[in-house]
Amino acid sequence: MWARLTNPNFASVMPQSIAAWCEQEGHEVWYLCYTGFEDLSEEIPTDLDFAFIGSFTQCAQMAYAISNLMQSRGTVTALGGPHARSYPQDAAKYFDYVFGFTDKELMRDILQDCEPQRPLGLRVSAAGQPEELPSVPERWRFIDETLKKAPFVKMVPMLGSMGCPYTCSFCVDSTIPYRQLSFERIKEDLRFLRTKFERPRIGWHDPNFGVRFDEYLGAIEDAVPPDTVDFYAESSLALLSEDRLKRLQKNGFKVIMPGVESWNDLGNKSKTGKRDGLEKVKQVSEHINMIMSYIPYLQANFVVGLDVDEGPEPFELGKRFVDMAPGAYPAYSLLSSFGQSAPLNIEYQKAGRIIPFPFHFLNTQSVMNIRPANYSWPQFFQHLVDLNLYTFSKPAIYKRYKFIKSGMWRWMNVLRGATAQGIGRAQFYGSLIERLETDRSFRAFYEQETTEIPKYYLDQIRRDLGPLWDWLPEGALYHDPNAYLKEEQGLVHVTDKSNGVHADLKKVEA
Ligand code: SF4
Repeated sequence: MWARLTNPNFASVMPQSIAAWCEQEGHEVWYLCYTGFEDLSEEIPTDLDFAFIGSFTQCAQMAYAISNLMQSRGTVTALGGPHARSYPQDAAKYFDYVFGFTDKELMRDILQDCEPQRPLGLRVSAAGQPEELPSVPERWRFIDETLKKAPFVKMVPMLGSMGCPYTCSFCVDSTIPYRQLSFERIKEDLRFLRTKFERPRIGWHDPNFGVRFDEYLGAIEDAVPPDTVDFYAESSLALLSEDRLKRLQKNGFKVIMPGVESWNDLGNKSKTGKRDGLEKVKQVSEHINMIMSYIPYLQANFVVGLDVDEGPEPFELGKRFVDMAPGAYPAYSLLSSFGQSAPLNIEYQKAGRIIPFPFHFLNTQSVMNIRPANYSWPQFFQHLVDLNLYTFSKPAIYKRYKFIKSGMWRWMNVLRGATAQGIGRAQFYGSLIERLETDRSFRAFYEQETTEIPKYYLDQIRRDLGPLWDWLPEGALYHDPNAYLKEEQGLVHVTDKSNGVHADLKKVEA
C-alpha cells in the first residue's frame, strides 16, 4: 500500500532531463517511469532505436534483463544513474553505453553515432555534473505522465544544487564539488508549477538542501507568496538553526530529513562536534524537537553497522533517541558499499570485507554487504530486531502520532510504523537470524566461505523479475565485489565463456 501511494513521487530528475534533452535534439521520445507495478514486457515498445535506462543498483538486474530484451529487438541500450556510476565495469557487460557524469553535449555526441558496442559496452563520461538541467516546463510532459500514477499525493521532483561541502566518506556526494544551479531558473519553475496545481508539492532532490540558505530562500520568497507551496527536503542538522526554521515554516516546508548517521561519529554534520554517545543523543534530540515545533514531519536518518559501533551501546542509544525525540521517524540504513560510489569503499575492498550479494538486494534495508567489524551476524541482527521492535512498538507509534498535530503527517507515521517499512523490519531481521542458524549454505555465504548465492535469494529474484527473469543475461546474477580496487590497481576481471574460468589480467594500453 505504501509503495502504491508513494513510489511515483520518487521519480528522479535526471531521466526526465535526458528525455527533455533528446526532445530538444529533435528525437521522438517515449518515456516510462517504472514504479514497481507496470508490466514492462508489455509496456516497452518494440521499435525503439536507442534506449536510455536510469537505474539504482537494486534495479540493476531488472535493467540488465530489459537491456537484453531490447538488444534482441535491435535497440541500442545505455545505462545511466547511480548503478552506472557505482558499477561501470559490470554494467558495461550488458549495455552498449555506460554513462558516468552526463550532460547535454555528451548525450548529443553519443546519439550522433549510436552504434552498438558489443560484447563490451563503451564507458563515457562528461567532465562533471551538468552546468544546467532542463526547466520544469521542459520536463513537464514526463513529470505529468509519472504523477498520473500517484493516486493522492503528487510531488514534483526539483533540483537546485549538486554535490555537498561536507565530506562524509560513505557518501556518493562527498566527492562532488558543491554547485548551486540558477536561482532565476528555480524561480521560473516555481511560478510555472503554481499554474499547474492549486498548492504544488515539491520534493527538493538536492543532496543537502540550503547550503546557500539565504539566497535559496530569497529566491523562493521572490517567486511565490509565503506558504502557497509544500516543500520537502533533505538537509543537515548543522544548517537548521532556529531562525532558519522560522523562515522554512513561513515558506511552507513540511518535511525535513536530516542525517544523524551515528551516535559515535560524524559530529560535524549534526553540529555536535566531538560529543559522542548519550551526550550527542540529548543534544540531537533537543535540536530535533525544536525543528519539529516548526516543521510537521521529520525523518532522522541513521546508518547502522559502522566500524565505530561496538556492543549493544549504539542500539541502546537509538532507543533513548526514540524516547527523547518522540515525534521523529527514525530510518535505519544498513551500512552498504555500492561499488565505486564513495571513497571509503576501496578500504572495505582492500580488507576483503565485501560480500557479493546480488544487486537486487542492495537497497540498504534487505542486506548489509559489508562484513561487520565488531559483531557476529546473528548478534548484529538481534540488536537490529530489538531496536526496530522498540522504535515501532505500539506505544512508540502512539507517541509519534500524538506528538504531530497535523492530520496527514501523524497518519503517515502510523502507516509507515505499522507496515513493512516499520515493524515489518523487526520480523524480517528475525527471520534472517533463524535462517543463519539453521541453513548452512546461507550462513556460509554471509561468512564469505562461498560465493554461491543462496537459493533463498535466487528464488526472490526470480519471483520479483517475473517474465523478465527469462531475459536475465548469463552471469548477471554475479558481480565482482572488488572491481573498483582492481581497476585502481590496473587489473581487469575477465571470464572465458567457453570454460567459465575467471582471471584478473593486467590492463594493457592497446
Ligand atoms: S552531509 Fe549528506 S550529502 Fe553531504 S556528504 Fe554528508 S551524507 Fe553526503
